[in-house]
Amino acid sequence: MTAPSADAAAPLPSSVDVAIIGGGVIGVSTAYALAQAGVRVVLFEKASLACEQSSRNWGWVRTLTRDLPEVPLALRANQLWGDIQARVDVGFRRTGMLYLQENDADAAGHQAWIDNARVYGIDARQLDRRAALALVPDSNRPWTGAMYSPTDGVAEPQFAVQGIASLAREAGALILERCAVRGVERAAGRVSAVITERGRVATQAVLVAAGAWSRLFCGNLGADFPQLKVRGSVMRTLPFDAGLTTAINGKDFTCRKRADGGYTVSQFGASMADLVPDSFRLLPHFIRPWLANNTLVRLRFGKRFFQELAMPRHFAADRVSPFERHRVLDPLPSRRGVEQAWQRLSDAFPVFRNAKIAQSWAGYIDVTPDAMPVMDAVPGLPGLYLASGFSGHGFGIGPAAGEAMARLIQGHASSVDLKPFRFGRYTE
Ligand SMILES: Cc1cc2nc3c(=O)[nH]c(=O)nc-3n(C[C@H](O)[C@H](O)[C@H](O)COP(=O)(O)OP(=O)(O)OC[C@H]3O[C@@H](n4cnc5c(N)ncnc54)[C@H](O)[C@@H]3O)c2cc1C
Repeated sequence: MTAPSADAAAPLPSSVDVAIIGGGVIGVSTAYALAQAGVRVVLFEKASLACEQSSRNWGWVRTLTRDLPEVPLALRANQLWGDIQARVDVGFRRTGMLYLQENDADAAGHQAWIDNARVYGIDARQLDRRAALALVPDSNRPWTGAMYSPTDGVAEPQFAVQGIASLAREAGALILERCAVRGVERAAGRVSAVITERGRVATQAVLVAAGAWSRLFCGNLGADFPQLKVRGSVMRTLPFDAGLTTAINGKDFTCRKRADGGYTVSQFGASMADLVPDSFRLLPHFIRPWLANNTLVRLRFGKRFFQELAMPRHFAADRVSPFERHRVLDPLPSRRGVEQAWQRLSDAFPVFRNAKIAQSWAGYIDVTPDAMPVMDAVPGLPGLYLASGFSGHGFGIGPAAGEAMARLIQGHASSVDLKPFRFGRYTE
């Protein structure tokens, strides 16, 4: 975690145009876009910037295999990451990205995605075996080809959000760390203020970009946002040269070169969901997607059930809130998950047997039933907006999601169709 910035001790403003809850990539990108437009904006982060998902992810900035409604956001985000990198180092590089194939069925699946996404102007193509092996030499696996995007890439989660925050501050945003928002005040039916652990700030518009906490926050205001948490585990190596610079999805492992010279390694199947009271409350929403993906996410019953059971779902703004009692979600990584990913990567690319493992960690991914975010005004609560539920792929599209939310909050038309991300889609 980084030390709180000078803004952390700044006095609270008495009023702003927009208050943002959450200092992950979504909140900070929205603050940046709003400040650039001259809007008076304050962002509240309960601990330190990017302390949860936004610093713990793999760092992929990808278009490949996205759900189609997210593709325009991914393309716009790729441009924005480039613009941001030109101003501050966020570790963004267009390294290219490869989804390796082992058989005709893999190739057919990738071709179907390319055919469907082509209409958006994606930069993706199929590589035959020879072209794929030119990008990943010295592999033990009989790859048959790959889907490739030369312009997809990576940014560095360890410092990207801090970089965007520095631009937001320069543009005039106030960013307050270690300042949890407890609730929202309403007058005449619409948002009139946020109540933080340090006091009240009057505002007409509040964006909830609270990651895995968004369901709890919205629930306290009477809005039922179907969101659960899935634990993803990751590891990194010390700097070494494996001769691989392209980010790789090898089906049962993933790996990408880091700016510090090491590699970030994980696998899609290393995710685990704790059974918690919300798992049962939200069963009607999640049972079908879980049955369709039950090889990717394992379920576990343990102490997390009782921890969440003990957490109040309704709380008053004049008391210490759950957001202060649990400053940072910091789950332990799955040893089995990271060891498996490491084993599979080293089997496929023996050069990794020489690498030294530096660290492993985990993060709670906030997921929705259709694995797409909600980016919308919250129905029935005028002045309240939600951008959350990015379901394991919000880092890459973060800058574009922030831009789109800033436009929505200002009442401007978005260049990206936000209808697929509306709040009400789960109950329609
Ligand atoms: C292991 C792992 C791998 C991933 N890999 C990728 C990847 O390669 N590419 C990709 O695109 N995405 C990836 N993701 C997903 C991506 O990290 C998330 O979608 C994205 O970071 C979500 O950003 P966010 O701002 O919505 O949430 P977060 O980053 O979780 O930020 C929410 C913030 O809100 C704060 N907060 C909550 N409640 C309050 C409150 N009441 N008051 C004040 N602050 C509050 C929290 O402290 C937190 O800092 C991965 C995620 C994980 C965990």
